[in-house]
Amino acid sequence: MSDTPILTTQTGTPVASNEHSLTTGPDGVTALHDRYLVEKLASFNRERVPERNPHAKGGGAFGTFRATEDVSAYTRAKVFQPGAEAEVLLRFSSVAGEQGSPDTWRDVRGFSLRFYTEEGNLDVVGNNTPVFFLRDAMKFPDFIHSQKRLGASGLRNGDMQWDFWTLSPESAHQVTYLMGDRGLSKSWRHLNGYGSHTYQWINEAGERFWIQYHFVSKQGVEHMSAADAERIAGEDADYYRRDLFEAIRGGDFPGWDVYVQVMPYDDAKTYRFNPFDMTKVWPFEDYPRIKVGEFTLNRNPQNFFAEIEQAAFSPGNQVPGTGISPDKMLMARVFAYPDAQRHRVGANYNQLPVNQPHAAPVFTHMHEGPMQYEFNPADTPVYSPNSFGTPVGDPERGVEATWESDGELVRSAYTLHSEDDDFGQARTLYNDVFDDAARDRFHETLAGQYRGLTIDVIQERFFWYWGQVDEKIVAGVRAKLGA
Ligand code: NDP
Repeated sequence: MSDTPILTTQTGTPVASNEHSLTTGPDGVTALHDRYLVEKLASFNRERVPERNPHAKGGGAFGTFRATEDVSAYTRAKVFQPGAEAEVLLRFSSVAGEQGSPDTWRDVRGFSLRFYTEEGNLDVVGNNTPVFFLRDAMKFPDFIHSQKRLGASGLRNGDMQWDFWTLSPESAHQVTYLMGDRGLSKSWRHLNGYGSHTYQWINEAGERFWIQYHFVSKQGVEHMSAADAERIAGEDADYYRRDLFEAIRGGDFPGWDVYVQVMPYDDAKTYRFNPFDMTKVWPFEDYPRIKVGEFTLNRNPQNFFAEIEQAAFSPGNQVPGTGISPDKMLMARVFAYPDAQRHRVGANYNQLPVNQPHAAPVFTHMHEGPMQYEFNPADTPVYSPNSFGTPVGDPERGVEATWESDGELVRSAYTLHSEDDDFGQARTLYNDVFDDAARDRFHETLAGQYRGLTIDVIQERFFWYWGQVDEKIVAGVRAKLGA
């Protein structure tokens, strides 16, 4: 017998061979009671969890956040007090493509940031865009269906993408952003993240503020040409994932500055844009960015599946001093994200090392279910209230976001504020932010999209939609099409 460590079954029994199945003679049938073979194949069959529906393809890394400024006037969250540090996890992703899809297809990029704070996990589950296609979650499943694949052929389809967008004019701002340079980033390191929603912060005195998170890349925001993106999609489908992993492995740690826009609580009622409408930004001239701190990604996952694929974010993961807002997309995501994780990873997904809080204790009376790993000490009551002193809730410490609400239950669009419409901010982006060269690339991209349309009514609505943003876009696209 040698002293070399031996291969074992999952329960520690030494394995006789990792090459040969148990058969009746060298040429005979395989025995069903080859316990190791059966265990190995059964385990293999279960290696995949269902991929995320949107945001299936991604990558990520761990790092360190530091609060470099003093924003205690706005939040009591310990992680944002001057000098505080926290471990972070950031997962980047594309939205529409599946696990194996090329990274460099034009798309919005997911930017899911977790702070492992001493008051629990804080997740900001955002994108590289400050806005979104929709303002009511009721339309979200239809939107994703239109970006994914046709039922019969299993093919992606421009007609249905543009049918949905042009029948949902609130999408115009985000589609303008997506068809512009920021729809094709040079890498994940070269994009900004945005919380996209409005969140609430609460200070020590209990004063409430509405805020928007901005994560500004220290590498700069850079884009890739459509020609390069197409070439790289064929040459290296994992281009963004590889770039991030190799940069960190080589000691070139990417960083982001953390900012917030802060709106006094009462401004929300009269501000010219509805601040909870996810298709709108708050112009910087009204609410400038205030620096909070910075973070650096400095540690690759040790195991991609365990730490990135099973990472389960939720915008409901808030801490005392931070919270959500009456944004209809955000409120629905607080349900939808944990529900997706329970389906995808399992009921006890929060017990996995990547999802557990790393800097805060956990005590709950929730227990059991598949894959239970953590449990309370023996004799701890499994119910509450009880006579044995297990932890109880405390409104002073479990500070939550609140806002006043009074009204009939209705199914209705948001109340419009004075400058609310579907196209105005898209027009500002096109006219005031894009330069001439960016507008030219934008027209070229839209012309390429138009060429993929085959249905008259959608082709006509395509030009109606862009004409609502600005007639110059229609002219620019028609010129590219040579019509
Ligand atoms: P400003 O004129 O003060 O700033 C424009 C911002 O647009 C820049 O700071 C930059 O944001 C971003 N930007 C630059 N180039 C592009 C591009 N090619 N595609 C998309 N965004 C770009 O802007 P306002 O606050 O008055 O808003 C004007 C428009 O700018 C908005 O309608 C919105 O489309 C866009 N924008 C606004 C943001 C906001 O939160 N106010 C954030 C991002 C875009 P950054 O510094 O984040 O890179």
